[in-house]
Amino acid sequence: MKHLIDKLEQTGSLSRDEWSALIRGRTPDLAEYLFERARAIRHKYYGHDVYIRGLIEFTNYCRNDCYYCGIRRSNTSAHRYRLDKEAILECCTKGYGLGFRTFVLQGGEDGHYTDEIMVDIVQSIREHFPDCAITLSIGERTRESYQRLYDAGADRYLLRHETCDADHYQKLHPESLTAAHRQQCLWDLKEIGYQTGTGFMVGSPFQTPENLADDMLFLKKLNPQMVGIGPFIPHHETPFAEYTAGTLELTLFMLGLIRLMLPKVLLPATTALGTIAPDGREKGILAGANVVMPNLSPVEVRGDYLLYDNKICTGDEAAECRKCLERRMNSIGYDIAVSRGDSLNTAPVTAE
Ligand code: SF4
Repeated sequence: MKHLIDKLEQTGSLSRDEWSALIRGRTPDLAEYLFERARAIRHKYYGHDVYIRGLIEFTNYCRNDCYYCGIRRSNTSAHRYRLDKEAILECCTKGYGLGFRTFVLQGGEDGHYTDEIMVDIVQSIREHFPDCAITLSIGERTRESYQRLYDAGADRYLLRHETCDADHYQKLHPESLTAAHRQQCLWDLKEIGYQTGTGFMVGSPFQTPENLADDMLFLKKLNPQMVGIGPFIPHHETPFAEYTAGTLELTLFMLGLIRLMLPKVLLPATTALGTIAPDGREKGILAGANVVMPNLSPVEVRGDYLLYDNKICTGDEAAECRKCLERRMNSIGYDIAVSRGDSLNTAPVTAE
């Protein structure tokens, strides 16, 4: 299987059959070989810098009912909250002082945040923090809405495609949501000019190596600036409560493959990775990741933004999270960078 890793490094792509054979045939030795190659590429483009993103989870209301998600509409035991513009700006002020130069506004698909309200929030952040990047992660909206938010000053947008395969997508989501629409949103975002991030869950229910192969082919075609992947972790108040979580091992392997396929992409070692293993994020960095996303949400609401069970860092102050991550990154020979940390993957939209 080493030859497939070499081929991937040399050509930047594999066929569907090769992807699934490589994913199925992985071994610990092969993983080590992959991670070495992935680290070398990451060092070539991004050195030993780790970019930080200040995550502000500003609403946990959501109109959708994704079967895996702890804040899905049907979870009546979730305690719901919203942050207003002033509370969001306070998080940014605190984050700026801690060295954050990217703010990620993340939330469920909450109808309260109309275009008017979101434009006002984005413009205010842009005005107060002109040297910072503003990233939105607020789900599927119309192209017109994406355009208005971009014009207001948003730079980046995160929207995981979750799984590329339409049938698999339908096993994870109610009928009102489709893979095709989600993917169309991503093409719209790219065309508008956002630095676009997508990604998927590893080990989600019913997922096969062929599904992961399709995800890799989709990533190659979309050529996003960021790719966020994390293990599926069940939430006890969802239809998938009893399903087995994705593994650290497969998630790390996929991180290494993504780094090889898209050498300049921004690749976070996610909180979900840190949740399934105490040193999951460090291992993610050593597999080729180069971003971490500490939480800037107010401590009072942290425990309510639970997409999955046992999420880490729900009780820590932002400053604590920042210091903890700095220690963790230093312990493996990496440094946290105080910068916007823009993606070097700047290729224009080429195909749909
Ligand atoms: S995954 Fe996103 S869209 Fe789906 S229910 Fe959760 S917050 Fe809403």
